[in-house]
Amino acid sequence: MGTVDLPFLPYTSGLEVALQAMRKYQRSAVVTDAKEGLWLFRAGPVVQGLARNLKYLADLETRKRVYTASHEELLPLGIPLVETYPAWDRMREFMDEKARAYIVIIPSKSFLSLAPEPKGLIQLVSRHEELANLLRSGPTDCYCTDASRGSSPHEFSQPLPKDGLCPFDQSKIVCS
Ligand SMILES: [Zn+2]
Repeated sequence: MGTVDLPFLPYTSGLEVALQAMRKYQRSAVVTDAKEGLWLFRAGPVVQGLARNLKYLADLETRKRVYTASHEELLPLGIPLVETYPAWDRMREFMDEKARAYIVIIPSKSFLSLAPEPKGLIQLVSRHEELANLLRSGPTDCYCTDASRGSSPHEFSQPLPKDGLCPFDQSKIVCS
């Protein structure tokens, strides 16, 4: 379990805008608010999408659903809304039950008025701490394009290998 604040963008945002937000806040994912709920997009697929001349986050298929938990769901389980840390065992069970790796707890209006979140960021609870740690640093410039690695392609920075191929899977490396 881990928590991380991520840039929160409209679902209609462009890939360039998403990447800029990741660099600005030094995070390697963004969360968007679509009609059907929240989606998490990681940096690798965004850079890959730009290399394929895609324009919008909505064009990317590699994404993860983020469960939105309400107070009504969490309070009866004894899970506090702000400092969830003491109740992480219960939180973990709750996330496994919902089969989601990521959850956002929707803050009540009264909470927002007491402790406003930094504008533009949303707090995410990640089922796996390693994943939260990965998201907590900024994007790298280049990623491989091996499709089997999904949302976590191998990361590279300049200078690239001479042939421009990933040494692990020989896929092409693309940069933003
Ligand atoms: Zn690779």
